[in-house]
Amino acid sequence: MNEISLIDTHTHYNSVVMENLEDQIKIANNNLDVSKIINIGLDNRTSEEAVQISLNNPKFYSAIGVHPLYNGEISKLEEIYFKYDNTKIVAVGETGLDTSQDISHQIEKLLESIALANKLKLPLIIHANTTKGSNINANKLCLEIIKKYPSKYGFVFHCFQPDLEILHEIIKIGGYISVGGNITKPNAKKSLEVVKTIPIDNFLIETDYLFLTNTPNETGKATFERICELRNTKKLAMMKILNENAQRLFPKL
Ligand SMILES: [Zn+2]
Repeated sequence: MNEISLIDTHTHYNSVVMENLEDQIKIANNNLDVSKIINIGLDNRTSEEAVQISLNNPKFYSAIGVHPLYNGEISKLEEIYFKYDNTKIVAVGETGLDTSQDISHQIEKLLESIALANKLKLPLIIHANTTKGSNINANKLCLEIIKKYPSKYGFVFHCFQPDLEILHEIIKIGGYISVGGNITKPNAKKSLEVVKTIPIDNFLIETDYLFLTNTPNETGKATFERICELRNTKKLAMMKILNENAQRLFPKL
């Protein structure tokens, strides 16, 4: 058999769902086969848990980070990295900016996260979310920070909020763009433009599982099929490309 299966580059599986792990993976992907999963920490506790999960489950890899809307110490992440076998810790993140709360403290944590990623020689997973009515553009500000304080081992804007101008800027400096279930929504016009525009080598796929609304339309399978359709590419070929991209950005996969 030379069947291949997809790598899901951004998820939040945790201890609550671990008992029915295989079922949860099936639900998240509507039975599409997934070979590898990057499970992402939101704070110190969930980062440590993500590492533990990865050490006990062959499919699982982990990223250690403090999400912009969560509390946690970046220095503790470094302790976690060296406390465990870190061969399956593939990235620092998620980190970034989210305008639903005050961002001054978030910027500090983002800068510390970039420094940690560079020290550990890991890529960075960025969450940039601009809420309605905010006068700060999270994508733009994250990009400015990354330009000034480069993440030397690469970075991805996860669950990218559609903005073609920013997209081109990200690509220019070698960044990756990850898309998830929102491209399956009927009103996702701008996101569809993004899917059509991302250079094929900078393209990643994710479920953001647990955070995705649990409808069958927004699963990994639906997202993957939508990408194939919009890029007019056969499934096997597209899967190969997406997996290669994931392994290029996250060499430990
Ligand atoms: Zn996430």
